[in-house]
Amino acid sequence: MEQELDKLRSEATGALADVTDSQQLEAFRIKYLGRNGLVSGLMRRIGAIDPADRPRFGMLANALKNEMEERFLARQQSIAQTAVAAAQPGPDVSLPGRRTVGGTLHPITRVMEEICSIFASMGFSIAEGPDIELDHYNFAALNIPEHHPARDMHDTFYIDDAVLLRTHTSPMQARIMESRQPPLRVIAPGKVYRCDSDITHTPMFHQVEGFLVDTKVSFADLKGVLTVFTRQVFGQDLPLRFRPSFFPFTEPSAEVDIACVMCGGSGCRVCKRTGWLEILGSGMIDPEVFKMVGYDPERYSGFAFGLGVERVAMLKYGIDDIRLFYENDLRFLSQF
Ligand SMILES: [Zn+2]
Repeated sequence: MEQELDKLRSEATGALADVTDSQQLEAFRIKYLGRNGLVSGLMRRIGAIDPADRPRFGMLANALKNEMEERFLARQQSIAQTAVAAAQPGPDVSLPGRRTVGGTLHPITRVMEEICSIFASMGFSIAEGPDIELDHYNFAALNIPEHHPARDMHDTFYIDDAVLLRTHTSPMQARIMESRQPPLRVIAPGKVYRCDSDITHTPMFHQVEGFLVDTKVSFADLKGVLTVFTRQVFGQDLPLRFRPSFFPFTEPSAEVDIACVMCGGSGCRVCKRTGWLEILGSGMIDPEVFKMVGYDPERYSGFAFGLGVERVAMLKYGIDDIRLFYENDLRFLSQF
């Protein structure tokens, strides 16, 4: 009895080893494991067995059936895997390579670099200064003494009575003039801080300060330099105007307006129906500022200007909410 079962085991095992595809596998299944298969059918022969041997035969026959079913499943799996592997073609060397997604410069960085390169082409050098600034350079050295009403407009973050986060990049004027002699052509880009937050203000933003000091510098030089700059950023045909204004550290002072880039000058929500957008502040450096750094105001004259980088970027790219610059949303950033 055992011999017979062993013979059937080795026959079935050998047959299974020869199976190479799913058709042969199915044939094997029918022959050995099907309803009337040689292995499954063993139990039906139990009636012909000596009653004393029946329990033992039943146990062995069952074990053989389980063993063969296990082997069958393993073989089925390995054939399926081979079929999947065979269905996959080799590498197609004619396919273009996968493109790696490169990062892009942040729009603020782009605009900042553009502004710097325009001024560099007009002979300005670039200087950077500290974000944490002394009250002296941020205000007093710029003709904004203590209790001057202009201080209230700055929404300053004070660290202590004498130290603050700079509210503009203008302190660089005083710092550089104090340590160097004219002629000077400098721009100072950087971060500035004000306690203010809405769709057009963030507590931290970027400014570019610039100034030129020499003998015989006139308002015509200021107009010339800022006209060249504005046209290079916003287009050669863009109308612009110089509008009288006030800053404590320049006299006379002027704000530069460009024709609204949204409506072309006919008046819209962005330009508050005026057709004009203010884009930078400027003026002839006040003699008082020269005196504080030890320059002779009879000999030297100069002009200074400052502009908000975010504002330029918003107008240039048609962005209506300043906070988009700082949300780090890749869908926004990858457009630049
Ligand atoms: Zn407009």
